[in-house]
Amino acid sequence: RILNPIERPQVTQGLSENVILTTVDDLYNWARLSSLWPLMFGTACCFIEFAGMIGSRFDFDRFGLVPRASTRQADLLITAGTITMKMAPALVRLYEQMPEPKYVIAMGACTITGGMFSVDSPTAVRGVDKLIPVDLYIPGCPPRPEAIMDAIVKLRKKVANESLQEQALYKQTHRFYSTTHE
Ligand code: SF4
Repeated sequence: RILNPIERPQVTQGLSENVILTTVDDLYNWARLSSLWPLMFGTACCFIEFAGMIGSRFDFDRFGLVPRASTRQADLLITAGTITMKMAPALVRLYEQMPEPKYVIAMGACTITGGMFSVDSPTAVRGVDKLIPVDLYIPGCPPRPEAIMDAIVKLRKKVANESLQEQALYKQTHRFYSTTHE
């Protein structure tokens, strides 16, 4: 039925009250913003602080962060602790098993630079970003749970502003992590 000019403004008003306009990016980001699931991954003392986040005192579940034991269900990797040369291939493999889009937070001095092992240890990796792409760094030895919380808030802001198209292009052009493992 063709609406007459008197009916049209009523329909327009009805639409503005009942229809929400958004972009695919916004809808997609909104859906995953509160469901960042971190992989249970800790290699040294930093993980004690990470574990503290899971308890009721800091309660990071309220951000939708539910720790997962499977890489297939995780989209956030927090490298909590020293990464050794022996651990490096396993870490890369775990990262590659996680589905896209995925994020990495490097937590603590050891994982960011090798920390106190960077002086003369032949076994410590001096920077996890030599192995996998890192989105956020949390300095400290160890960083307090409040610092982890701050990183999560920053990551959520990053996720909220992402574009699907840019993400795909970034992944195509920045595959710089090691793929030499077996
Ligand atoms: Fe342990 Fe400090 Fe290294 Fe974290 S940064 S793994 S607390 S020595």
